[in-house]
Amino acid sequence: MGALVEVVALVALVAAAMLLLAALLQRRGARNPPTGQARVDPRLAELEGSVAAAEEQAAAAEGDTAILIELVGVGAVRVSPDLTVEAANEAAHRLVGRRPGTMVGRSVLEAFTDHHMEEIARTALETGSAVGELTIRLEHGPTLLVRARRTPGGGAWLVLEDVSELRRLQRIRTEFIDNLSHELRTPLTTVSLLAETLAADAGSLPPKAAERVAKIEVETGHLVQMVDELLDLSRIESGIAPDAVDDVDLGRLARTTADRLRLFAERQGVALEVDAPPAVPVVRGDRERIGQALLNLLHNAVKFSPPGSVVAIRVTPTESEVVVAVEDHGQGIPASALPRIFERFYKVDRARTRGVGGTGLGLSIARHVVEAHGGRIWAESVEGAGSTFSFALPVHGPALAATPDG
Ligand code: ADP
Repeated sequence: MGALVEVVALVALVAAAMLLLAALLQRRGARNPPTGQARVDPRLAELEGSVAAAEEQAAAAEGDTAILIELVGVGAVRVSPDLTVEAANEAAHRLVGRRPGTMVGRSVLEAFTDHHMEEIARTALETGSAVGELTIRLEHGPTLLVRARRTPGGGAWLVLEDVSELRRLQRIRTEFIDNLSHELRTPLTTVSLLAETLAADAGSLPPKAAERVAKIEVETGHLVQMVDELLDLSRIESGIAPDAVDDVDLGRLARTTADRLRLFAERQGVALEVDAPPAVPVVRGDRERIGQALLNLLHNAVKFSPPGSVVAIRVTPTESEVVVAVEDHGQGIPASALPRIFERFYKVDRARTRGVGGTGLGLSIARHVVEAHGGRIWAESVEGAGSTFSFALPVHGPALAATPDG
């Protein structure tokens, strides 16, 4: 792309030099009418030389870019402002299942026979950039990740990356976890119930045995929770069911979620505060899932806060989004751990969190829920001072999608 910018700059330089040359010639013509004896102004000769050199450089840079575009393994397609394909490399033709050279001159819709691709190109032309994913409708057609960017010349470049294998492996992983969790769930639930029954009779057991039974009960409880959360994750990964989509008032959801956790917070000696304006624009989504994401953030905030501190949920509408932030004054998260915090099973310090329970799946679930709703989630923290976990959901309901990665 840098080479392209270079070409554009060189062409502009050549044009400017030519204009200057024309102006100089005109002035010279006016001052010295032709005498029949050509006397070349040395400045003009110098300028002519620079123009020629600049033209040569521009042609070379253009040639360089063309070679680079053919060499890279990804598809590269250039479209004009009226959505016509101006250039497409060999990889682009191969990915779309076309013979080389048959895309240029066609409209984006004709070249790709896909409305979604046209939408991506149009968005990039209008807004500057766009990203999307689509599967080419052919037998064994690849899944393409498309990144588009408007260029200074007014058109746009589309880069097509084949992510079929990645998506296939992600699907296999999700199915594997789903099957495994289903298989584990029944025996684990039985063991958990048996441990509970035993614990209820603890009075008739010797103290050592009663202690062990209590431990079995707690640990099987953790295992059941982990399996349930893994099942939840794989369900969220398969996308949000359209019939679960509703208008959600995040201000009200913040208050009901805080109420659900009030007893737990009181036991921890932590005060819960909700700061939300009376009228919050609704977002489109699955209320139960969004509530679950918020509950996970709030549960962590309380869990990692010292007694006597405050956990606040702030709901802030912006022009296009509603932002929900959960702020605590707990132990915080080291900067080195922050980038990994939303990965499944990730825990900052297993030794430190052993006593407070948890599966390491809560944040991963929250991230999948938010991203499946077209939103963003992030964390800010200062170790020893506290953390703020925030998510933003778009006010105008997006197309709900699965988020297979992470
Ligand atoms: P868990 O079930 O272990 O809480 P999560 O995915 O919810 O799993 O969180 C992953 C890890 O992130 C936690 O084990 C903890 O180390 C860290 N963490 C999450 N929220 C906070 C917080 N508010 N303050 C400090 N650490 C946190």
